[in-house]
This record gives sequence, structure tokens and C-alpha cells, in this order.
Amino acid sequence: MPSYWERMPAKNLFACPECGLFYPVEALAKKCAAWCRVHPGTCDPGIIGQAVKKR
Ligand SMILES: [Zn+2]
Repeated sequence: MPSYWERMPAKNLFACPECGLFYPVEALAKKCAAWCRVHPGTCDPGIIGQAVKKR
């Protein structure tokens, strides 16, 4: 895996490079990014529901 998947050392979070949401596990960030690339601007509620809110 490329370092494309930003890992957040402080909280151990993974960011979706497409929409910028943070996830507790890399698999979710990947899933989100895959979705975001195909459906820009329409995140899957089932996926973003598990996102960690940054602010
Ligand atoms: Zn996303």
C-alpha cells in the first residue's frame, strides 16, 4: 500500500483522501475512498456513519 492512506499517529485514524473524513480502521477509509471516487459528493451513509468527526 502506498503512503496514500494518511495515518494519524496521534489518534490512530485513517483519512479518506477523497472526502477527508477520518476512520478508526484503514478498511473503512479505503471503502470510503473507493466510493467517493465513483460517486463524488455522495458518501455512502453506511460508511460515513462510522467516520470519526474531526472537529
Ligand atoms: Zn470519502
